[in-house]
Amino acid sequence: MGADEYNQGQLDSGDLSITDVTKMVESWQRLNPPLAVDGYAGPNTIASLNQEPEIVKIWPLLSLPDGRVPVITSGFYTENDSRPTHKGVDMFFKWIAKDPDVKVGNCGAIMRNGKRRWWYPDGYVAVAAANGVVMTAGDTRSGWRCWVDHGNGERTGYFHGASLLVKEGDKVEAGDPVIVVGCNPKNYNAKHLHFEVSPVDRYAPKNPRVWLKDANYRG
Ligand SMILES: [Zn+2]
Repeated sequence: MGADEYNQGQLDSGDLSITDVTKMVESWQRLNPPLAVDGYAGPNTIASLNQEPEIVKIWPLLSLPDGRVPVITSGFYTENDSRPTHKGVDMFFKWIAKDPDVKVGNCGAIMRNGKRRWWYPDGYVAVAAANGVVMTAGDTRSGWRCWVDHGNGERTGYFHGASLLVKEGDKVEAGDPVIVVGCNPKNYNAKHLHFEVSPVDRYAPKNPRVWLKDANYRG
């Protein structure tokens, strides 16, 4: 049974009245300005009901085969006193003893207390965090970088790539590889993904940690 048929049945049986339906339309209109709140399901209200749903987000790094998920190790500037110009977040995986003895520093892992602490497997890729279209993709002073426009007024940026896997205009789906994770050639410290979120129409980065709150991990 389709929704129309079901709803008509509700009306026919008296389980729903026209007043109920009008109230539902009004409550939708109230939540979706600039719709007029008149309870009338006219063309504008119907178009609003048919709009694309919110984008579906995933983390821009796929979980490791053993289930380890990416970790934000360096936050957005508003929450990061030591980095007042950091317009995104840095992500790593936690290194554990069974992992390879990847090199430390010089575009390798980060050492803490004599042990590797944060790392990436060789050749690890960053992936599109939601469906979209590649807006820009190219080489920069901070490595290969691309931005993906998600069609909802937002874009995500993937920085410090060792190489680029997409080009401008490419359609990507959540989970499609966009860059091979590399390091920032300004200092060649550790290999990591720097991830940003901004409105499409201007560069006004917002906190990716907040943006990722409703993102799923994907393996
Ligand atoms: Zn960063």
